[in-house]
Amino acid sequence: SRTMLIAGNWKMNGDAGQVDAFARSLAADASAITADMLVCVPFVYIERLVAGLADAPVAVGGQNVAAEVDAGAFTGEVNGAMLADIGCRYVIVGHSERRAMYGETDSVVAAKTSAAVAVGLTPIVCVGETLEQREADQTEAVLAAQIGALFEQCDARTLAEVVIAYEPIWAIGTGRSASPEQAQDVHAFLRGQIADRDATISESVLLLYGGSVKPDNAAALFAGADVDGALIGGASLKADSFLDIARAAG
Ligand code: 13P
Repeated sequence: SRTMLIAGNWKMNGDAGQVDAFARSLAADASAITADMLVCVPFVYIERLVAGLADAPVAVGGQNVAAEVDAGAFTGEVNGAMLADIGCRYVIVGHSERRAMYGETDSVVAAKTSAAVAVGLTPIVCVGETLEQREADQTEAVLAAQIGALFEQCDARTLAEVVIAYEPIWAIGTGRSASPEQAQDVHAFLRGQIADRDATISESVLLLYGGSVKPDNAAALFAGADVDGALIGGASLKADSFLDIARAAG
C-alpha cells in the first residue's frame, strides 16, 4: 500500500537553463509514470522549477532547512515556511554531506525534521554508514543510533510524516551501489527499528535507497520488499535517466 517515491537531489549543481530543460522534459513525459516523483534543487532555482513543473505530477523540494521555525536574525538561513511559500512540498534533511561537512549532528537533524513538519513539508531524513563502519560491522549500530535519536527528539506527529533515505556513504557518487540484497537487508532492519517504537509508522513509512542509483540497477534495487523508492544524485541531473529510474519503480 506504500506508493513508490522517486526523489532527485541535484546537490550544488545546475543552472537556469538546465532547470528549464529538465522541467520541459519532465512535463512532457511524467504523466505516464505511476511512482510519486520529486526533485530537490538549490534554493535559488526552486521557484523556477516549481513554475516549469506547474502542470506536471512532479513535486519540488529543498535540500536543507533551518532548524529555527520562526523568522528572525539568522543570516544565510532559509526556514521551512519560506520553502512552503514558494511551492516546496519536501525537504532533504541530514544528508551525509551536511552531516560531514557542515557539522549537522543527530540533534540538529531532528530539530530540522520537526521544523519541516511544523510547516507542512515532508522531510526526507538521510541515514547511512561510512565504509569504515560497514567493514567494522557497525552498520546496524550506526543506523539504530541515527533512528533512535530521531524518535527520541521528534514528536509522534512529526514522525508520522517522515520519509527515511538510507544512503550508505560508500555508495554516494562512487558508482558502487549497495547490492539489492544489502539494500533490502538494511531497509528491513530500519523498518524493524521503527516497528519497535511505533508499529503503525513502520508500516506506512517510506524507506528510500540512495547511492549510485542508475537506470540499469534501479529495478533490482526496487525489487526489495522494503525498498520504497530512491534518492538519486548524479542520475537525477538529466531528465532521461531520472525518468528511466522512475519507470523502473513500476
Ligand atoms: P549519487 O546518486 O550521485 O550516488 O548520490 C546519492 C545521493 O547522495 C543522493 O542524495
